[in-house]
Amino acid sequence: MTEKFDVVVIGGGPGGYVSAIRAAQLGLKAACIDMYSDREGKASPGGTCLNVGCIPSKALLDSSKHYYHLQHEFAAHGISTDKAGIDVPTMIERKNSVVKKLTGGVSQLLKGNKVAFYHGKAMLQAGRKVDVMPADGGDPVKLEAENVILASGSVPIQIPNVAFDGEFIVDNVGALDFTEVPETLGVIGAGVIGLELGSVWNRLGAKVTLLEALPDFLALADKDIGKHAAREFKKQGLDVRLDTMVKSAEVSKGKVIVTVEDAKGESQYTFDRLLVSVGRKAYTEGLLGEDCGVSLTDRGQIEVDENSKTTAPDVWAIGDCVRGPMLAHKASEEGIAVAEMIAGKPAHIHFDTVPWVVYTDPEIAWVGRTEQELQAAGADYRTGSFPFGANGRALAGGHAAGMVKILADKETDEILGVHIISVNASELISECVVAMEFQGSSEDLARIIHAHPTLSEAIHEAALHLDGRAIHRGN
Ligand code: FAD
Ligand code: NAD
Repeated sequence: MTEKFDVVVIGGGPGGYVSAIRAAQLGLKAACIDMYSDREGKASPGGTCLNVGCIPSKALLDSSKHYYHLQHEFAAHGISTDKAGIDVPTMIERKNSVVKKLTGGVSQLLKGNKVAFYHGKAMLQAGRKVDVMPADGGDPVKLEAENVILASGSVPIQIPNVAFDGEFIVDNVGALDFTEVPETLGVIGAGVIGLELGSVWNRLGAKVTLLEALPDFLALADKDIGKHAAREFKKQGLDVRLDTMVKSAEVSKGKVIVTVEDAKGESQYTFDRLLVSVGRKAYTEGLLGEDCGVSLTDRGQIEVDENSKTTAPDVWAIGDCVRGPMLAHKASEEGIAVAEMIAGKPAHIHFDTVPWVVYTDPEIAWVGRTEQELQAAGADYRTGSFPFGANGRALAGGHAAGMVKILADKETDEILGVHIISVNASELISECVVAMEFQGSSEDLARIIHAHPTLSEAIHEAALHLDGRAIHRGN
């Protein structure tokens, strides 16, 4: 028997489960199919984000930050303790319990919103028919829908001659589950995952070396923020080798031997563990039946237009499996917009105001364009900045590293980008996203009253500085 739905969503990550819930809220009969299984083989909706991405990495970042601060920062506050210790299995177990709580919460939310959930692998066929192979090996289930939303996410990119073995050479999944602190950890790729998970194990005592192919550090971020971050991370002991191309890696006698090529020629590094974090690619394996009509781009992503419509009628695609940044909040907002469009409502995503955050310490957050992007586009702009070293709250808290930088159009003063490196930058950036979403100007940020003493006063001062009238620094 074929069960019929208004909307079937394939994938239960932050794109998929959110769109299924929104569709149900709008009165549509919705189903969500997800194939991820936890260690006990049970359904664990939430996708990469909840199971092996955003949430577990933040849990470990928080645990390792406490340990690091205890050792390196508390003494300045007059707090002393006996020698600090770290029990890695307890830390990992705490992380697992946070994941379990949240994935269990998603199951409850799906149920509460009357979204039918199927634990298994789905394949889209022609005419929006969907075949589900249940994870428990049961008989295939057949579904049919007026609309299908593909939200199948992404998987790590593998590089030639560096094969994952899940123990010595790992991806994010392995690096979130080490049972002890490796003495030495190599990381291929000094991008977001490399810096976040590299920071975790560095804070816990591993000697971490990041091998990055590009000549610039954090090339995606604003260049001033990248420079600032490089200085801070060096102080913390992260050893970043730029312009270093990895050629191969092999495991020998319990060590990983990595061969690289840099300006000096070929050389080798030896590590206890190697994390490969060179980017992710759309995951569409076994998703698209032969005649389903959905095309892929030459990068292997599902082809969509600006409204997330694929090349097949009433089949939509969102999140990591399509163009745009691979971020959980981008996936969720696309999912909500698509559900609303299906329900006949107007919906729109403003890709220019998707915030980015790197959860290092200090955190790095930005929204909009970088200075180098504006220069390349020949834009006329003004900049203002403010160091946290001159912010009372940052000094009081003992975290004065970092700065705010604002870029605004020279003529109209519209904010074009805001870049922050500081403790809590992930929260501070929201004000700037709101300002940009409302096409605000730097003058708006300069006029808004910011509570004292707060870190957000640095944004206020950077906006004042842009106009040559900062109070707490020279102009
Ligand atoms: P996913 O979360 O990947 O979910 C897709 C789901 O679909 C998976 O459960 C998969 O098993 C399932 N699926 C795939 N194919 C099928 C099929 N045929 N049938 C049934 N089910 C299927 N982003 C942030 O914004 N902030 C962060 O802090 C952050 N940290 C991250 C840390 C790490 C280590 C990693 C790896 C990623 C991180 N990300 C972060 C990125 C974020 O996880 C992704 O952008 C987000 O999960 C994408 O959501 P999605 O719904 O598109 O896909
Ligand atoms: P990334 O694109 O952030 O970084 C990959 C890095 O690897 C780049 O700097 C690249 O130049 C380098 N690289 C590529 N090939 C290489 C090679 N052969 N040798 C050496 N260096 C090489 O990718 P990632 O860190 O794997 O993360 C994937 C995606 O997951 C991110 O783009 C992001 O969208 C998402 N993510 C987001 C967060 C967050 O929002 N805080 C956290 C983790 C992951």
